[in-house]
Amino acid sequence: MNVETSSALGGRCLCGAVNFSATPLSLTMSACHCAMCRRWAGGVGMAVACAPALRIDDSSALGIYRSSGWGERGFCKACGSSLFWRARDGSALVVSAMAFEDPAQFELKTEIFVDEQPCNYAFAQPTRRLTGAEALAAFSKPNPS
Ligand SMILES: [Zn+2]
Ligand SMILES: [Zn+2]
Repeated sequence: MNVETSSALGGRCLCGAVNFSATPLSLTMSACHCAMCRRWAGGVGMAVACAPALRIDDSSALGIYRSSGWGERGFCKACGSSLFWRARDGSALVVSAMAFEDPAQFELKTEIFVDEQPCNYAFAQPTRRLTGAEALAAFSKPNPS
């Protein structure tokens, strides 16, 4: 978390019905191997922690799925793209890294829920790898699911 940014960055879903802008807390992303993120994203959940304010140009195609008692996930009702997870109380927002226009600007720094990672894939670059319990302790937040 050493590259600070205060710029809002744009992104969109696959079909373009949902356009958004969000402000990353840093130009880094984390990969979540938890079963919920993998099923939701159709792969590893790669996400960027952002300031809670999310701007959606036209939310008519935005669907919200309440995935836990305190978290919800936003997606496009037209094309199905997985777009963001947020706390229902508005305190936290993580946006799908690959939904941004330029996902290459986010350095992969951390992998979480490595204890739920299937054994048939692995990232090549060195990262900080945390189990679910370690991630919860490190971030002092409940499971972002
Ligand atoms: Zn769409
Ligand atoms: Zn997850």
